[in-house]
Amino acid sequence: MDFLRPASWEEALAAKAAHPTAVPIAGGTDVMVEINFDHRRPEYLLDLNRIGDLYDWEACENSVRLGASVSYSTIMENLRAELPGLALASHTVASPQIRNRGGVGGNLGTASPAGDAHPALLAAGAEVEVESAERGTRLIPIDEFYTGVKRNALAADELIRAVHIKKADGPQQFSKVGTRNAMVIAVCAFGLALHPESRTVRTGIGSAAPTPVRAKAAEEFLDAALEEGGFWDNGRIITPSVAKQFAELCSGACNPIDDVRGTASYRRHAVGVMARRTLTWTWESYRGTAARTEGAA
Ligand SMILES: Cc1cc2nc3c(=O)[nH]c(=O)nc-3n(C[C@H](O)[C@H](O)[C@H](O)COP(=O)(O)OP(=O)(O)OC[C@H]3O[C@@H](n4cnc5c(N)ncnc54)[C@H](O)[C@@H]3O)c2cc1C
Repeated sequence: MDFLRPASWEEALAAKAAHPTAVPIAGGTDVMVEINFDHRRPEYLLDLNRIGDLYDWEACENSVRLGASVSYSTIMENLRAELPGLALASHTVASPQIRNRGGVGGNLGTASPAGDAHPALLAAGAEVEVESAERGTRLIPIDEFYTGVKRNALAADELIRAVHIKKADGPQQFSKVGTRNAMVIAVCAFGLALHPESRTVRTGIGSAAPTPVRAKAAEEFLDAALEEGGFWDNGRIITPSVAKQFAELCSGACNPIDDVRGTASYRRHAVGVMARRTLTWTWESYRGTAARTEGAA
């Protein structure tokens, strides 16, 4: 196995173009497991650790540009206000050691349906910035990024440079069910983001379908119910029947399997429970903020 060590982004793109089968390695928390267990024996490893640019993030007016190798610990420490859903999801990843090494670029590279960043990225609305030496940069909407079980939309000569994530304009939540409280891969997970500016909600479901997915019918139902009832303006408590139907539609968006971590029917049930809970939590938070804003006016 050859180890390629580019010193710059341009060198990394050139190396990937010259060796399209080269496997990029960032934190290594997925790649090294596969190599250690002999699940993968790539001809080339492409080490991205010398490229400082990948560890930078920038808060722009409406979004955050997060370098592909920014670690979960860094997100938790520095981007809690801008990216609350992703910060909450980061908290649930593995252990402090893994959170110090692993990052969103690696989670996207692996594209496991159980990756914890995905529900938060889907709910917040993200775009993945990828680049190749030959064709330059393109932005892939997060909804189009996951193409199958552990498959993504990257071409063989492309690398992930950054992820652009909309800054929160309202409350966000992330919930994960596991067989224990820490160091656990999700049995299933759910992300929810309220977007009061556009009066919409977005969801993300993890580990309950071949890819991470949004519950689009549930989002459309809730958007209409909140609009019809004037909820965004009057800040009333969401009626239990609305929350129940939202939860059922989220369950309906799942297409899970039975595996060692849980059964398909349990996953469907748990996603419904998490959908109802996260809706209650985010809406309570929205009502509190709305009341404070009114009081201040
Ligand atoms: C003990 C343990 C516990 C874990 N627990 C969790 C958990 O709770 N939740 C969770 O979501 N994950 C978990 N993981 C998996 C892993 O930590 C995450 O998926 C992490 O985000 C991977 O990031 P990394 O930088 O280490 O990726 P790497 O292992 O370096 O790479 C992962 C994949 O992404 C590709 N890649 C990396 N960077 C780029 C790039 N810039 N461009 C293109 N491709 C790239 C690699 O080629 C590889 O295919 C766990 C892993 C371990 C070992």
